[in-house]
Amino acid sequence: MYNVKSNKAEEFIDNQEILDTMAYAEENKNNETLINDIITRAGDFKGLSHREAAVLLACELDDQNKRLVTLAQEIKKKFYGNRIVMFAPLYLSNYCVNGCVYCPYHHKNTTIKRKQLSQEEIVKEVVALQDMGHKRLALETGEDPVNCPLEYVLESIKTIYGIKHKNGDIRRVNVNIAATTVENYRRLKDAGIGTYILFQETYHQENYEMLHPTGPKHNYAWHTEAMDRAMEGGIDDVGIGVLFGLNMYRYDFVGMLMHAEHLEAAMGVGPHTISVPRICPADDIDTNDFSNAISNDVFEKIVTVLRIAVPYTGMIVSTRESQASRERVLKLGISQVSGGSCTSVGGYDHPEPEEENSSQFDVTDTRKLDDIVNWLLEMGHIPSFCTACYREGRTGDRFMKLVKSGQIVNCCQPNAIMTLKEYLEDYASADTKEKGEIMIQRELKSIPSDKVREIATAHLTELSAGKRDFRF
Ligand code: SF4
Ligand code: SF4
Repeated sequence: MYNVKSNKAEEFIDNQEILDTMAYAEENKNNETLINDIITRAGDFKGLSHREAAVLLACELDDQNKRLVTLAQEIKKKFYGNRIVMFAPLYLSNYCVNGCVYCPYHHKNTTIKRKQLSQEEIVKEVVALQDMGHKRLALETGEDPVNCPLEYVLESIKTIYGIKHKNGDIRRVNVNIAATTVENYRRLKDAGIGTYILFQETYHQENYEMLHPTGPKHNYAWHTEAMDRAMEGGIDDVGIGVLFGLNMYRYDFVGMLMHAEHLEAAMGVGPHTISVPRICPADDIDTNDFSNAISNDVFEKIVTVLRIAVPYTGMIVSTRESQASRERVLKLGISQVSGGSCTSVGGYDHPEPEEENSSQFDVTDTRKLDDIVNWLLEMGHIPSFCTACYREGRTGDRFMKLVKSGQIVNCCQPNAIMTLKEYLEDYASADTKEKGEIMIQRELKSIPSDKVREIATAHLTELSAGKRDFRF
């Protein structure tokens, strides 16, 4: 029985409710009156229910689909301005006891090289990341309580925060590790993590169990209830996502929105971010084995309707996607991208030889961070290296209140300007620097508050003089 507030996975992700929602969406995919009504209500920027969003996802009416695109763009602008937050993944260990059939780290894969970074190697990786200009990382590990215990992750976080190389500084460490206990989440919180990220992969229990045939991840309820435990452990910024292509996308789309609704109803705060990865090739993984792979058009529609359904949630797209694909979805509401990414264990400091491949997936957008920054500037976005919110205690419901009232943009914009300035001073190529300075002058003029503009201008002068790390 569907119960959004229940703490049981089978009740807050109720299979029948998803099936009924999909049937309702199918019945109404050409219902002009209903669709117009939903779009009008979405225009109040308060989001939509999973049923309403499912109808929009299924909508086959051209005019209405065009209106959805315009609305998604409007929402992006209203809540986040034109800043795009930058981050990079850092793979610490690819030991894994699970049997996930879509991931090359599954424990039966003998062709992949198993690696775990020592603390000395982490220092080298982080120095390489700092030298690119990164300030925000997402830590990634496989699940292996013996080879990669939580103590190792905690020690690594401490190491990372402690590395100050030239003007480099990692200011926010997000963590993507396996579902764990409330106590362990508390320890991660105490270590100063930003967002805890865990992808559901698919919300369809039967398929989930087939795709995860062995290992602790096989336990659907343990995995699906992980965010509740994380929040109970004090982590109030959590990031969810599904791996599109594993299962019917319409099912997972509805499941993911039901998960977001559950977190808001039961824990008081919805997800901080939603990621939209699509299955892609990797060692030992052939995407042709997955018949649910989604087209570019469907991918764009998913991003558009998510932007409208959960306006307060950051949306992330990684280097799994090509430059062209990222360009399209950036216009539709993506607010965070990775850049210059390496998905192997230890590949930033020196690229690994082919025979030592330890990567989780093949990166499609292989450009350097500076090329990504340059490209974003050319498209009119401000690349932002901001990490201010969690450092200022703006997390969980405090953060959500600011987003919902439309005020967060007043922090995002000056912080984007100042952190871009840092990047230009310390790491940019001449061409990126030129484009970035033009962007900064343009954006400064559009800061609505005189006071904020004055402070930001003063900090820009200090940044030119060599000072670092200012924030609103
Ligand atoms: S998806 Fe995660 S848990 Fe599954 S095999 Fe890969 S690293 Fe291990
Ligand atoms: S001000 Fe907060 S929401 Fe805006 S970019 Fe910075 S950390 Fe993100």
